[in-house]
Amino acid sequence: MITLKHRSIVNLEREREKLIEHLRQEISDERVLNVMARVPRELFVPSSSRHLAYEDRPLPIGEGQTISQPFIIALMTQALELLGSEKVLELGTGSGYQAAILAEIARQVITVERLPSLANTARRTLKKLGYINVQVHLAERTLGRRAEAPYDAIMVTAAAPRIPQELLDQLAVGGRLVIPVGSRWEQDLLQVTKQKEEFTVKNLTPCRFVPLIGEEAWNEE
Ligand code: SAH
Repeated sequence: MITLKHRSIVNLEREREKLIEHLRQEISDERVLNVMARVPRELFVPSSSRHLAYEDRPLPIGEGQTISQPFIIALMTQALELLGSEKVLELGTGSGYQAAILAEIARQVITVERLPSLANTARRTLKKLGYINVQVHLAERTLGRRAEAPYDAIMVTAAAPRIPQELLDQLAVGGRLVIPVGSRWEQDLLQVTKQKEEFTVKNLTPCRFVPLIGEEAWNEE
């Protein structure tokens, strides 16, 4: 006999496979696809939306914040061009899902969150799943986390009005910064590469993120 719980796990697995096939149309990095096929997104969303975990859409995670759409997560992760030895900074821990994806590919992940309740929940989830190479920190007054800079890659999962100089300073030469930049309501996802004397910027896709709050970003409402 198949119990209800068992049936819903089987369904989630099937939906996860379907999602990966769908992502494969746009995402070419096999490591990113493999990792997204492995990390259980349903454990990072509230239990009431667990059945939606493998739909390609953002979901609320409390405090007015959202976990991004899987396609955007895959695209951002791919754009960091990680090889495995990197120290990565994430701004906006939220549920911790993106941090888990990064932790599967990079050596070390430092992730920073402004809201203590989200930071605590994410820390618990990541610990339960055994991620020992992720450190969750509360945001400071300046963006990012200077103490542990430079980072080989930086991902910002909230929208900024412009590319913050503070984060460019925390990025290693040769490193990549992926960040949504635009208005409070719509942005472009940018991949910024730092060279010795200059930066190159590539526009990846239009997108919509919750606002990054703080210096060089938006004021709290
Ligand atoms: N990456 C997350 C989704 C993040 S939503 C995930 O995988 O679930 C964006 C998050 O950025 C929110 O939780 C918000 O509180 C946080 N945030 C906003 N401004 C911030 C700042 N200056 N520093 C760190 N986090 C910030």
